[in-house]
Amino acid sequence: MSASPMVLIFLGPPGAGKGTQAVRLAADLGLVKISTGDILRDHVARDTELGRKAGPIMERGELVPDDLILAIIREELAAMPEVRAIFDGFPRTSGQAEALDALLAELGAPVNAALLLEVPEDELVRRMLKRAELEGRADDNETTIRRRLEVYHQQTRPLVDYYDARGVLKRIDGLGDPGQIYCRIRGAL
Ligand code: ADP
Repeated sequence: MSASPMVLIFLGPPGAGKGTQAVRLAADLGLVKISTGDILRDHVARDTELGRKAGPIMERGELVPDDLILAIIREELAAMPEVRAIFDGFPRTSGQAEALDALLAELGAPVNAALLLEVPEDELVRRMLKRAELEGRADDNETTIRRRLEVYHQQTRPLVDYYDARGVLKRIDGLGDPGQIYCRIRGAL
């Protein structure tokens, strides 16, 4: 069976459930999940040069510079014989989105869909504080959560219009249990 290129993007604020949904979607559609947050946390844990640069930025809830993120993405895409990917937490700035488009154009694999998980802000905060108890992520504390939400609105939210203008945006209600939300996503695709 030959698979054709497929690229999905998860948009949406921190705590929206992008990672959870991306895992399931990747398994069912045979896609590689590329989570820049997970890759960065792995670098921090291994104390690499990138990890030492990114760690303090992540702890403040700010964005890691585009050039560092794009180096990660280029490496991930280069490792794929055929582009079948779901991006979780990337792109997060217009610079990243434009660079992704250029990379994908070279590879002949345009973005098929950008999935926007919509969740009200008080629910996002509640989920992240709960995750803090379960996973102990350094950036899941109230101050950093507020900053991450601000950064989302300033730098990432404009990408909703970017993908809408390209006709690939799918808005998904992100409230409910994960199975229900997954059904909505499959219905939208
Ligand atoms: P969340 O969606 O809950 O914020 P992530 O794991 O996606 O969690 O991101 C955690 C942190 O990693 C971000 O706050 C940011 O510092 C950094 N990061 C992850 N992805 C990117 C990206 N594409 N561009 C810049 N920084 C990123």
